[in-house]
Amino acid sequence: MDNRIILPDEVKRALDTLHRRGYEGYIVGGCVRDSLMGVPPKDYDITTNALPEQTKEVFKHYRVIETGIKHGTVTVLINRMPLEITTYRIDSEYKDNRHPEFVTFTSSLEEDTARRDFTMNAIAYDEENGIADFHGGHEDIQNKLIRCVGDPDKRFGEDALRIMRAIRFSSVLGFEIEEKTKAALFRNKELLKNISAERIASELIKLLCGRNVYSVLMEYIDILAAVIPELMPMKGFNQNSPHHKYDVWNHTARVVANAGNSPVLRLAALFHDIGKPLSYTEKEGRGHFYGHAKVSCDITRAVLNRLKLDNYTKDTVLDIIRLHDAQINENKYSIKKFMNRRTPELFFMLLKMKRADDLGKGTDVSERLAALERMEKLGKEILSEQACFSKKDLAVKGGDLIAEGFTPGRELGLILDRLLEEVIAEHLPNEKQALLDWARSIK
Ligand code: ATP
Ligand code: MG
Repeated sequence: MDNRIILPDEVKRALDTLHRRGYEGYIVGGCVRDSLMGVPPKDYDITTNALPEQTKEVFKHYRVIETGIKHGTVTVLINRMPLEITTYRIDSEYKDNRHPEFVTFTSSLEEDTARRDFTMNAIAYDEENGIADFHGGHEDIQNKLIRCVGDPDKRFGEDALRIMRAIRFSSVLGFEIEEKTKAALFRNKELLKNISAERIASELIKLLCGRNVYSVLMEYIDILAAVIPELMPMKGFNQNSPHHKYDVWNHTARVVANAGNSPVLRLAALFHDIGKPLSYTEKEGRGHFYGHAKVSCDITRAVLNRLKLDNYTKDTVLDIIRLHDAQINENKYSIKKFMNRRTPELFFMLLKMKRADDLGKGTDVSERLAALERMEKLGKEILSEQACFSKKDLAVKGGDLIAEGFTPGRELGLILDRLLEEVIAEHLPNEKQALLDWARSIK
């Protein structure tokens, strides 16, 4: 087994600088895990026995930012690469399932690794000593296993966010959760209610974007439902429809997995059918869900508000859900009308949503997918031709029409609407003279 990790020069320099001054210094956490998996780390965290003041002194010739001095963290910028350097520490008792009462610095690397959440995240490395793995993390990475450091019930009791982190890592890394850790997840799930909405939302979004999201949603809906109980009615809800092979939740999990890799689309996918159980009606043994998109929107709005998502995400997710079942005809006129009422961006996102929705039905959707591809091509043509689909693209402006004797206000608005309609329908070219002539002719 090759245990060498190639470090960026900046990281080497930081570790060397600590070592030269007689301190220990290791990279630790996600960056070691990712490196051992052959994945380039997003960032590097360093752990050291130097106290924060000492770290500041050691790096006094660099830019140092006091990011979390209380918790022992300073950020050092080397060649513009930010490196978080944290003093070895032990977290004290957790009283509220989320924050240690206080932290204590220690001179023991082993003690520092013991406070970390999962064995795969508790490995340290430096070039002289190689891998320092006190909890069997390397073997767990090789076996693709997520396992708590120490007793899982205790660890989830200390910080319930770890419950979300476990299933998020399972989704992102494609790892299984070790049996004892898994059992403790379910036993402790209600503790998630003590975690702030922002932290839940951030983990949820990462989870949704993971490559293993289908299995994670299928296996761990009960855990997500501790924070989003609205999801629960979807589980096992039979659709009784020739268009659907799967129950609402299984369908939903498939749609999420197929919904492009953007948080907005994945959230929209998660909630698009959440209103189905409430909208269910049956006729001659067949299930129908009339109006479910609206019900889904209403439920989702409440959930997204609770999760404190930003307005862009909220509005876009709701637009996609509201329209996920709407028909847009396969011609440029309809598409331009859509782009005018909404935005081109929403049009393309909606196509992606519809495609994912179709792929999650488990029935033959080849015709529908082909139609969506043709729609996408038409949409792209409209943009590349710079075709006019909104008033601001019209070749005449209000001022031009006023000069022609039109009255500002209602009359002007109406004539601009009509001009736009004629241009979208391609009855008139988007040229100033032609538009003015036509406007004059109907005055
Ligand atoms: P990512 O790839 O998402 O950044 P990461 O493992 O680096 O994953 P971070 O949130 O950046 O996660 O945290 C860095 C390290 O700090 C983790 O690897 C872990 O050792 C430790 N850690 C983070 N959050 C917790 C927590 N809630 N409880 C215990 N240890 C934690
Ligand atoms: Mg990290």
